[in-house]
Formats: sequence, structure tokens, C-alpha cells
Amino acid sequence: MHTIAVFPGSFDPLTLGHVDIVLRSLSLFDEIIIAIGQNENKAPMFTVEQRMQWIKDVCKDYPQIRVTSYHGLTINFCKEAGATHLLRGIRTVIDLEFERTIAAMNKQLMPSLETVFLLTSPSYTGISSSMVRDVIRNNGDASPFLPDGIIIGK
Ligand code: ADP
Repeated sequence: MHTIAVFPGSFDPLTLGHVDIVLRSLSLFDEIIIAIGQNENKAPMFTVEQRMQWIKDVCKDYPQIRVTSYHGLTINFCKEAGATHLLRGIRTVIDLEFERTIAAMNKQLMPSLETVFLLTSPSYTGISSSMVRDVIRNNGDASPFLPDGIIIGK
């Protein structure tokens, strides 16, 4: 079976935690689509074009990885993309509880789609895009949390 995993998220911005999950999943899937979900109720700090460009730059050496964006339900995007798997990262039990609900609903909406969770590598459990945005808003140095190639602020 040709496997296509969708890794959905806001990636506002992409962090070392996201990169860890994607790179570790390279051996699991034939193709990985990093998909930026555009949520009309959330005002992002960075434009979708900027977020996509960063991801493309960081993943440029991996032909298995594609980057795109979508509106609406993640599951509908997965159907359009012919996805076989949905990839998510789990940092804490809080993530797990949240993800469990989504995965259960997605299973009903698209039974053929398997959600795969990877546990965050220990050094990245403390990283979240929202905390990175906080650091940036307050003129701090966010570089310890960002991949090389994403330079924001200081
Ligand atoms: P969302 O808007 O869906 O929360 P995010 O961009 O915050 O999107 O996260 C996308 C995916 O990356 C989620 O599965 C999330 O659990 C995972 N993720 C976020 N931060 C990390 C991290 N530090 N380590 C591993 N996975 C992470």
C-alpha cells in the first residue's frame, strides 16, 4: 500500500517540535503532506504564505514531504488528498486527551484513515507555537525553539 500521511496544524510558526515529529515519521510513510489548516476563527501571527515558505525551506532536502494549506475540516482535506494516515504529535496527557476525542470523531467520519501519534522527543516537550509567539511578542529570542532557517526578531 502506498501510504500518504497528512500532518495538519497551524504551524504558527513551525518549531523544532514539529520538525522532530516529521523527520521521525519519514521512515513510516511514502509521502507526508504538511498541511496548514486555515481557521477563520483564529488570527495567526504569520501569514499562511510565510508559514508555508518556512516549512518548504526547512524540508527542502526531503522529496517525500509536500507542503500545502487548506480550509475547512481536516478530514475533508484528507479525503481530497487520498491520505491513508493522519499524523499528530503528543507532548503531554493534555494533548493525549484532546487528540483522543478528535481521532475518535475522525474515525467515524473517515474509517479508512488511521491516526498515528508520535510521542515528542523529551527535549521538545516544552515547546509550543503559542509560547514561541509569546516570546516573539515580548521581543525575546525564540531561536532556541526554531529550526535553522527560521529567523524571527532578535
Ligand atoms: P494545532 O493548531 O493543531 O494545535 P500545531 O501547529 O500547534 O497545530 O501542532 C500541530 C501538530 O504538531 C500537533 O499534532 C501537535 O501536537 C504537534 N506539536 C506541536 N508542538 C509540538 C512539539 N513541541 N513536539 C511535538 N509535536 C508537537
